[in-house]
Amino acid sequence: RKVDLVYTRIRTEEKLLLEALRRRDCAVNLVQDSGMVLSMDRQRVNEADTVLMRSMSFTRARYLATFLEMKGLRVLNSARTISLCGDKALTSAALAAKGVPMPWAFVAFDEDACLDAIEARGYPVVTKPVLGSWGRMVARLDSRSAAEGVLSTRFGSGGAQDHVALVQEYVDKPGYDLRVYVIGRAVGGLRRRSEHWITNTARGAVPERYEVSGVHAKLAEAAADAVGGDMVAVDLLETRGGDIYVNEINHCVEFARSIDETGVPLPDLIAEYVASGAGA
Ligand code: ADP
Ligand code: ZN
Ligand code: MG
Repeated sequence: RKVDLVYTRIRTEEKLLLEALRRRDCAVNLVQDSGMVLSMDRQRVNEADTVLMRSMSFTRARYLATFLEMKGLRVLNSARTISLCGDKALTSAALAAKGVPMPWAFVAFDEDACLDAIEARGYPVVTKPVLGSWGRMVARLDSRSAAEGVLSTRFGSGGAQDHVALVQEYVDKPGYDLRVYVIGRAVGGLRRRSEHWITNTARGAVPERYEVSGVHAKLAEAAADAVGGDMVAVDLLETRGGDIYVNEINHCVEFARSIDETGVPLPDLIAEYVASGAGA
C-alpha cells in the first residue's frame, strides 16, 4: 500500500505511526500540510492510494481531506468525519440524530437569545468554542453575571463566523473523564483524572489505566458510527449517578502522553487499519 502521511509537525505520534506503517510494508510519503497546493481536478497528486490525515489544523485537514477524496484517494479519517468532529455543534447534531446519549446542548447566534436560553435552563452550564481543542476557552458558567461576561466576549469580538455559542449541560463528573479509542472497533481507553473540572491531559490531568467495559465500548462505537469515524478518540463523561454521555469525538487521535496507560499499541492498530484497506 502507498500511503501519504499528511502532517503539520512530526510529533511523537507521527514518528510512531510512520515506523508502524513501514513495519507493515507500506510505502510512506511524509507530506507537510503547509506545502500542499491542490488543483481542483481529479488528477492524482502522486502514486499514493491512501492518505493518513494527521494535520493539526482543522481548516487544512478538512479542505485537504475533501480535495484528496475528490481526487479518488481513500482518506482516513474521511472529510465528512473531520468536518463533523472538528465542529462541536455539528458533532452534537450528528450524535443527536442517532440518539447517542450526550449532555443536553443548544446552539445560539445572538447574545440576548443565548442568555435567555441559559436562564431558562438554569446554572451551571458549560460553553465552549465550536472549533477548538486541548480544553482552551471551555468555560463553566455558574451565574448570570459570569454568563454575561463570557457571552459579551464571545459576541463582542471576532467576526460573524465566531458568533455562535454552544451551551451544554454541566456534567458533575467524579473527578475524571473517560476516553475510548475506536480504531474500527473499541480497542482500549484511558481515564483522565484531575482536581480541575477540565480534564485534558494538555491541561495537567493524569492519565490512568481504564479497562473499557462492554457498555462503554458499545457507546463509543455508536458515537464513532454517528460521524462515520474510522479511527477516533471518543470522550465520555460519567455522572456521579452512573449515567454516561458522549462529550466529544476527536478525529486526530493523540496518544503521546498516555500510551503506557492506554495499554494498547495504538500506532500498530492504526497502521494495521490503514494497511487493511478498511474504511474505503
Ligand atoms: P476540547 O476539544 O478542548 O478537549 P471538550 O469538550 O473535550 O473540549 O472539553 C474539555 C474538557 O472539559 C473535557 O475533557 C471535560 O473534562 C470538561 N468538560 C467539557 N464539557 C463539559 C461538560 N458539559 N460538563 C462537564 N465537564 C465538561
Ligand atoms: Zn477535542
Ligand atoms: Mg476533549
